[in-house]
Amino acid sequence: MTDVIDAPAAVKPINHWIGGRAYEGRSGRTGAVYNPATGQQTGAVDFATADEVDAAVRAARDAFPAWRSLSLAKRADLFFRIRELVHDNLGELAKILTAEHGKVLSDATGEVTRGLEVIEFCCGIPHLLKGGMSEQASTGIDVYSIRQPLGVVAGITPFNFPAMVPMWMWAPALACGNTFVLKPSEKDPSASVYTAELLKEAGVPDGVFNVVHGDKVAVDALLEHPGVRAISFVGSTPIAKYVYETATAAGKRCQALGGAKNHMIVLPDADVDMAADAAVSAGYGSAGERCMAVSMVVAVGDVADELVDAIKARIPNVRVGDGMEASSEMGPLITREHRDRVASYVEKAPGEGATVVVDGREAAPDDGFFLGPSLVDNVTPEMDNYRDEIFGPVLGVTRVGTYDEAVRLVNDNPYGNGTAIFTRDGGVARRFQFEVEAGMVGINVPIPVPVAYYSFGGWKNSLFGDRHIYGPEGIDFYTRSKVVTSRWPDPATSKVDLGFPQTR
Ligand code: NAD
Repeated sequence: MTDVIDAPAAVKPINHWIGGRAYEGRSGRTGAVYNPATGQQTGAVDFATADEVDAAVRAARDAFPAWRSLSLAKRADLFFRIRELVHDNLGELAKILTAEHGKVLSDATGEVTRGLEVIEFCCGIPHLLKGGMSEQASTGIDVYSIRQPLGVVAGITPFNFPAMVPMWMWAPALACGNTFVLKPSEKDPSASVYTAELLKEAGVPDGVFNVVHGDKVAVDALLEHPGVRAISFVGSTPIAKYVYETATAAGKRCQALGGAKNHMIVLPDADVDMAADAAVSAGYGSAGERCMAVSMVVAVGDVADELVDAIKARIPNVRVGDGMEASSEMGPLITREHRDRVASYVEKAPGEGATVVVDGREAAPDDGFFLGPSLVDNVTPEMDNYRDEIFGPVLGVTRVGTYDEAVRLVNDNPYGNGTAIFTRDGGVARRFQFEVEAGMVGINVPIPVPVAYYSFGGWKNSLFGDRHIYGPEGIDFYTRSKVVTSRWPDPATSKVDLGFPQTR
């Protein structure tokens, strides 16, 4: 009798989405998509050719005139419908994320919820697009500014937030009146296709939102396409730099968010239990595959021993397992190669002079791409464990004598995404906020991802371009301003109309 239990799951084809419908790729090239909890291939995603990218850009270009002409009231109406549909299907979307990314369901739900907040922000688009006006700038002359969409814009996104990061882009882009081409990560592409279906169901016209899958070929085709006006990118620093340089050389507006090495400074007066809880949550949540993960704890003065002991004591309680299981708190990593690369930092730590306090390789389940949480103490700036963005559940601790040394570490680091300080001293926290060189700062908050009505972005090698993503800067990024100077003869005509004025 055939043993069906061990048979590999069926491999599902994952197609592009162009002009309001699924579009089967014709390149003959596909990428394997895995369930990281089992290690089995579950999908084969089409990789686009330059011609297929061109088809998506043309669909977006054709849809643009009608979409930008839709009244703000109608666009806002549509966004309320999108909000309801995403909200109603949050559970389904979270399951899609867990199946391909591996993050646990509660974390996947949190991801969609944070993306939903950006969609909710965009429901207020009539207010967000208000311009300014100066009446009587000169005699009989008024001057006013308006914001207009750019046209076709594109988003290129990383594997670690397959729903939320695309929402950070397409929601403000569409709300501002642009049409959109999304190139999601080839490692977990299904959430983008599901989003496209939801947008269609909400009533977004065909061609306004398109998805092309693929690798460098698809990315380069977007970067070089004369019909694409702006590129939003989120991913690793080397690719962010490449995308920024290529897109701007082609005359496009570009915001390219890169990698991170986020430091969490713990001062001697901190609440050690609170700091240890935060370090474990922010270091191992989503298996450390967050650009805002805490990867380096900076223990100042005599807090170090107590803090390391407190973190170590919490690690055995982290439940590692299949993200679909309600009991799991930390899932697998995205691929076998990435798991092995992350584990190599634990392997090399003693040779670099660091101390492995907890070795996560010992706690990893056999199937899938799992690695348990690791804690590495006595890490110093010249080590690979310090310099590299490990992007996995390996939390480093570096010990310094003073607050000034701790801040210097953050400010000297080439990345500047997020950072946090744990202290009871408001004066020191305020000084930290004033002098630290990072785009997002937490005070007793380990993952300071800004709420949707502020903007998200790092400094230094964590962001190429001048505008942060979503929030007010997202609206700025997806629009350009126009200033009108006008003079009119006195009104000569008028009529009586007793109806209540309506906007739609
Ligand atoms: P990645 O840079 O490998 O891939 C990002 C995107 O670029 C994907 O769509 C991928 O297909 C494409 N890409 C990959 N190689 C390319 C190449 N040679 N040429 C053109 N395009 C290419 O990043 P990832 O591994 O998917 O995501 C993890 C990285 O993203 C981490 O460095 C993390 O810090 C970063 N990240 C940053 C933020 C932020 O807000 N700053 C948020 C999430 C993730």
